[in-house]
Amino acid sequence: MSELSNRYQKVINRIEQACDTYQRPKESVKLLAVSKTKPIEDIVEISRLGQVAFGENYVQEALEKIAAQPELEWHFIGPIQSNKTRPIAENFTWVHSIDRLKIAQRLNNQRPQGMPPLQVLLEVNISQETSKAGLKPDELSGLCEQLLQMPNIQLRGLMAIPQVTSDIDQQRASFARMRQLLESLQTEYPQAQLDTLSMGMSNDLEAAIAEGATMVRIGTDIFGKRDYSNL
Ligand SMILES: *Cc1c(COP(=O)(O)O)cnc(C)c1O
Repeated sequence: MSELSNRYQKVINRIEQACDTYQRPKESVKLLAVSKTKPIEDIVEISRLGQVAFGENYVQEALEKIAAQPELEWHFIGPIQSNKTRPIAENFTWVHSIDRLKIAQRLNNQRPQGMPPLQVLLEVNISQETSKAGLKPDELSGLCEQLLQMPNIQLRGLMAIPQVTSDIDQQRASFARMRQLLESLQTEYPQAQLDTLSMGMSNDLEAAIAEGATMVRIGTDIFGKRDYSNL
C-alpha cells in the first residue's frame, strides 16, 4: 500500500474507533477529505479507495480539480469573498463557510436553475477569536430564519474551526457548545433539516466525534503536510 493509502486507512480507523468509544453508529460521521494544495493524483488515489467527499479552500484551484473529477462531491470550506460566489454556486455541492447574509443571498441568486439546492452551513466563531471568521452565537437564529426562506440553498447546520489546543477537555468544551447551538436551532426551527455539525480536524477529530460531529474535515493526516509555496 502507498503511504497515502496507509494514512487514509489510519484516519478511517480513528473515526471508527472514536465512534466505538463514544457509542455512535459509524455511518453517523462522514469524512470530508480536505485536499487544498494537494495534486489531483492524490485525490484520484483516495477516491479509488471509496472516498467521495472532498473539501477545498481556494476557488481557482478547486475549479481545476472539479473539472477533472466532476463526479466527486465537492465542498467549499474556505473564506468566501463576495466576488467569488458565482463559481462557488455553480460548481459545489456544499458550502461550509457562510458567515454573512450577503454571501447567502448571492449564492441563492446564483445557484443555476436545474441544480439541486446548494447545501450550506453557517460558520460559527465558537472560540470568540477576534481574528477569526464566523458568526457570533447570538447572530445565528436571525440569519437561520432568513436562509430558510431561500429556495436555492438548503441550510443543513453549523461549522466551526475552534482555537487550536492540545487539551482534550478544552477541545470538547468548544464542540459541546456547537452541539448546544445546533440543538437550540433545531428546537426553534423544527421544520428545517438541520442535521449537520461540521467540526473536527486532524488534531481534534476524536473530541469532535465525542460531542456529536456529523462531518469531520481531515487534511494533514490524510495527505501529509501542506506546502503553500506554489499557490
Ligand atoms: C485546511 C482545513 C482543514 C483541514 O485541517 P487539517 O488540520 O489539515 O486536518 C479543515 N477545515 C478547514 C476549514 C480547513 O481550512
